[in-house]
Amino acid sequence: MKRIRAIILSLVMAMMLFAVVTPTTTYAATTKTPSAVTVTYAKSTACNKVTIKWSKASKATHYRIYYRQKTSSGWSKWVKIKTVTKGTTTYTHTSSAKYPIKAGTTYQYAVRGYNKTYNKAGKYTARKVTTAKHSYGSYTVTKKATCSKAGSKYKICKTCGKKYTATISPLGHSWVENYTTRTVEVPGETVDVRYCSYCSDGPFFTYDEWIEHYANTGHGVYYWSTYTYPSTTKTETYATGRTCTVCKRTENY
Ligand SMILES: [Zn+2]
Ligand SMILES: [Zn+2]
Ligand SMILES: [Zn+2]
Repeated sequence: MKRIRAIILSLVMAMMLFAVVTPTTTYAATTKTPSAVTVTYAKSTACNKVTIKWSKASKATHYRIYYRQKTSSGWSKWVKIKTVTKGTTTYTHTSSAKYPIKAGTTYQYAVRGYNKTYNKAGKYTARKVTTAKHSYGSYTVTKKATCSKAGSKYKICKTCGKKYTATISPLGHSWVENYTTRTVEVPGETVDVRYCSYCSDGPFFTYDEWIEHYANTGHGVYYWSTYTYPSTTKTETYATGRTCTVCKRTENY
């Protein structure tokens, strides 16, 4: 009887112990979820680098770092870049083939506190950052442009080595006009002239000349005639076309 009582007692004690331990275990798991992490700083100092800092989370054994790219319709899927241990609260993401960063592009970075023992990850507040532009050196000309044909050139980013190729517009011709001279005939002009009908004096080319004759002689009557000056020639300069001073192309008008 005593033995049975002892068994029952130990069973009850075991049940009590189980009752105490079980809820405690369950409770402990939920409180082992790390607290929320806020990314407090995100800056891109070069076209291929972003540095972030974040707030500490309680109950985190590690931090998981994520990023995603802004797209035309929103954001791409979150991508985990790295897991670091709890002592770390800053990370510099350098572009790689697996986790690329594009220059001049907007990303979001998020960090989640992670508890490895209980496999729990906390909430996060992400931060937006736009990456720096490429820092190109000066252009190297690979093909010179001519008057009528485009050339090409390239420049290299001093940080990431990206090559940017551009065309050089055609320069356009530098025209100068060509002139030549020719001799042209100027026909004689026909004018009215006056003669004195008394003495046949004349021709008087102007009315004033006639008036002077009248004043000198008193001859008051005159008649009209016409007179044609002799034709002459003159030298004329005119543009015949144009020539480019660079490529020597010639066009005639
Ligand atoms: Zn670059
Ligand atoms: Zn030319
Ligand atoms: Zn007269």
